[in-house]
Amino acid sequence: MDRQLFIDEVKKLNVDLTEKMLEQLNRYYELLVEWNSKINLTAITEKHEVYLKHFYDSLTLCKVIDLNSEESLCDIGTGAGFPGIVLKICFPHLRLTLVDALNKRINFLKLVCEELGLDNVECIHARAEEYALKNRDLFDIVTARAVAPLNILLEYSIPLVKVSKYFIALKGIEDINESKNALKILNCNIITEEKFLLPIEGSNRTIIKIEKAGNTPGKYPRRFAEIKKKPL
Ligand code: SAM
Repeated sequence: MDRQLFIDEVKKLNVDLTEKMLEQLNRYYELLVEWNSKINLTAITEKHEVYLKHFYDSLTLCKVIDLNSEESLCDIGTGAGFPGIVLKICFPHLRLTLVDALNKRINFLKLVCEELGLDNVECIHARAEEYALKNRDLFDIVTARAVAPLNILLEYSIPLVKVSKYFIALKGIEDINESKNALKILNCNIITEEKFLLPIEGSNRTIIKIEKAGNTPGKYPRRFAEIKKKPL
């Protein structure tokens, strides 16, 4: 995806990119490639592919929510910063929290925030389900891309969401029927399931927007070993 196509496609998502944002994305790309040779961050390194499969793909979250009206966003299992860093660049007013279980990725993200001058970003080295124990009902939006099956992801993320706000999962192909039990137990509902194809290469994407309808029962999230042994 070249620069102009990226700008045009992102515009269709109702995101207007400024020169500053484009410069920040370019610097982010440079840092990603530079640090990828030292620590494993991504298998995708060609510029046009990063712009399509990481940058554009991260922004597709805007298909289901207007982030201009939201204050706080938490990206769990953010890895090299997708979708969190891209969303922060394009919506600089957001209070962003990035959570990942791998400290080397968290250190990379701290460096990216410093280099790009991103403020109001917290980079947390933790497992999401452990972070959620002490940070319940905190965020307007919680999101995750490529982290776990939806039923498991719901247990990690729903406790972090404010009541009446949203968890938004960025997925490939997902069978939401397998998460019915988790949705019921965790007191949440699917609001939108948006299926589309990524431009140019045409791979399947599903964005699932879930509302936290009421409080999460106190026993969730459980410890990882239990979640793994008996997923909801
Ligand atoms: N979201 C990024 C993306 O789409 O490029 C990274 C995806 S990568 C496949 C999965 C990431 O989730 C890894 O960085 C891993 O350390 C992190 N992860 C997996 N389970 C996690 C958990 N329970 N809590 C926090 N991070 C987790």
